[in-house]
Amino acid sequence: MRQIPTPVSVPLLDLRPQYQSIKEEVLRTTAELFESQLFILGARVEAFEKAVAEYVGARFAVGMSSGTDAQLAAMMAIGVGPGDEVVTSPYTFFSSAGAVARLGARAVFCDIDPATYNVDPEKLRKVITPRTKAIQPIHLFGQCADMDPILDVAREKGIPVIEDACQSLGAAYKGKKAGSLGDFGCFSFFPSKNLGGFGDGGMVTTNDEGWYAKVKALRTHGETSRYHHKMVGGNFRLDALQAAVLHIKLPHLDGWAEGRRRNAHEIQTLFAEFGGRPFAEGGLSFPVEANGCFHVFNQFVVRVGKGRREALKARLAERQIGHAVYYPVPLHLQECFASWGGKVGDLPESERAANETVAIPVFPELTGGQKEFLAFTLAEFSKENA
Ligand SMILES: *Cc1c(COP(=O)(O)O)cnc(C)c1O
Repeated sequence: MRQIPTPVSVPLLDLRPQYQSIKEEVLRTTAELFESQLFILGARVEAFEKAVAEYVGARFAVGMSSGTDAQLAAMMAIGVGPGDEVVTSPYTFFSSAGAVARLGARAVFCDIDPATYNVDPEKLRKVITPRTKAIQPIHLFGQCADMDPILDVAREKGIPVIEDACQSLGAAYKGKKAGSLGDFGCFSFFPSKNLGGFGDGGMVTTNDEGWYAKVKALRTHGETSRYHHKMVGGNFRLDALQAAVLHIKLPHLDGWAEGRRRNAHEIQTLFAEFGGRPFAEGGLSFPVEANGCFHVFNQFVVRVGKGRREALKARLAERQIGHAVYYPVPLHLQECFASWGGKVGDLPESERAANETVAIPVFPELTGGQKEFLAFTLAEFSKENA
């Protein structure tokens, strides 16, 4: 057995070391941009769009103001509106159902697979109705949803698929990257995502030229030529400043993902070496990489048995180990969606996940000592309840 490690504080995420590694290039590039005073769209945004399309393996990419606006614009392009339903996961960030509600439509929730936290394709068919206008699977925490059966149902019924890949740029499913599998891929460059900007940003990817033209027009108020509007859009533009910073970061993304994967693996190995107990024995479980999936660990989420989550959070807080709950309230139980009629018990796996999971640090620059202290703390906790 390993020796008890020295206590050390561990932030959930610290972006400063990453910035130090690219600082000179960022300062040089942003200085050029400030000299040019060209801030809206233009060459830097186009170059970054091209780079992301190539990276993802999609034909087209449109820089957007946020992941939320990417989702909203994809739904607007499809024509989601009053009377329509959009099938999605209840265990995710708010924006997925929020965008549906903003368009006057209704989100219909499909419960998740407890092993991956992504939509369970076996439950999908049952929630599709003649009103289903889009299917929006979430690639949660950095791992793709099981897309083959989802795409099978969607193609059979002729329903477009919007991938919420906001947490999963670089993740892959059977050799294809997130954002290249469905009709639309939506990405976020919120600073805590694996590719994070210096503020908000997002992207829509697609392989279809028609969808591409529509999303691009929607990004500037539905304009098709200057001041001529055939449809109503919004101001969904990505700043040139964000595009410039993100383009500098993009070549590093795979290396950072490898760092996250290595840390995820090391923390689990250390946990076992410290005698940590698995969930089945009253302890704690780590994320599962599903068959055919390449996980990029935007979040590293552990699960503890019923009623133990608050104790784990308290322990981590006491040891100065950063942690967060993603997400404590499944979307069908959000107050603002009460009119959709969701009740406790409707979606048991999503509700269980919302009560049992905690995200812990995994960012690439964690030190060996931090990983040891984190794994030790988890292992110690996992043994107390057995
Ligand atoms: C971050 C995130 C979004 C929204 O992206 P923003 O850029 O913050 O608007 C949507 N879905 C998921 C799963 C996310 O993690």
